[in-house]
Amino acid sequence: MYAFTFERPTSVADAAKLAAAGAKVLAGGQTLLASMKLRLSSPEQLADLGGINGLSSIKKEGNAVVIGAMARHADVGSNADVKAAIPALAALANGIGDRQVRAMGTLGGSVANNDPSACYPSALMALGATVHTTSRTIAADDYFQGMFTTALKDGELITGVSFPVPKRAAYMKFKQTASRFAMIGIFVAQTDSGVRVAVTGGGNGVFRHAGLEAALNASFTSEAVAAVKIDSSELSSDIHASAAYRANLISVMTQRAVAQALG
Ligand SMILES: Cc1cc2nc3c(=O)[nH]c(=O)nc-3n(C[C@H](O)[C@H](O)[C@H](O)COP(=O)(O)OP(=O)(O)OC[C@H]3O[C@@H](n4cnc5c(N)ncnc54)[C@H](O)[C@@H]3O)c2cc1C
Repeated sequence: MYAFTFERPTSVADAAKLAAAGAKVLAGGQTLLASMKLRLSSPEQLADLGGINGLSSIKKEGNAVVIGAMARHADVGSNADVKAAIPALAALANGIGDRQVRAMGTLGGSVANNDPSACYPSALMALGATVHTTSRTIAADDYFQGMFTTALKDGELITGVSFPVPKRAAYMKFKQTASRFAMIGIFVAQTDSGVRVAVTGGGNGVFRHAGLEAALNASFTSEAVAAVKIDSSELSSDIHASAAYRANLISVMTQRAVAQALG
């Protein structure tokens, strides 16, 4: 490791000031510390968000579950309100990485990082979530902008995410076995305004699948999904899986997600 300064602000306002002055914020360190060790990132100042009260709260507000940026995956997965209102979201959190990653990794860190194979972005997209930051709110559809790219501006911090409660939802992940990130992950949500299907692990970043959404709006069944042809031309192809394999996984995982959502 190389020399850097370390701050531990106790309020969001102080953290935002430090970030605006160029500090890199530290959440659970699950991505950031590894990047620093590998010299992929070399911030001169870290501002640890772990000392800010209230940033890890999880509460039901009206028809939404509102989760603070510093909520750890293990806390989301075991929270009674999340389990009751959006069990698919609790299951997603409980399926992230391993116990250490779930004990330290955070919602805000995951959403800020926007790894193209991360699980949470698919939940935000499918549920039509809203990202709350230090300066505004951003709809999930506008927030994710491709590989490791988001609508966040320099120095802007995520404070939490509101997840509207769906009628039904499920998340199905085919794991990349070494990392446990999604080779393909599918989040399906049925809401009063229709069905949304979000795919992670398939390309440059999370995306919604219009063909699957149309089929499921017509008939919320696994059979309807099986009849949709998945175009592989824009999917990733790498040492883990070809684009054709990923296309097949999108169909199979969506069928399984729908079956699970139907109970
Ligand atoms: C072995 C391993 C397996 C994993 N498996 C999975 C998996 O199966 N599925 C999955 O979805 N993820 C997986 N992850 C990622 C994990 O879920 C973490 O959430 C992710 O690494 C981010 O880590 P963190 O929350 O500790 O954030 P950090 O590493 O502390 O920060 C990550 C980035 O986000 C920025 N940041 C953090 N918080 C905020 C904020 N509030 N506002 C603005 N910017 C912020 C930081 O400055 C940094 O740039 C895995 C990680 C590891 C190491």
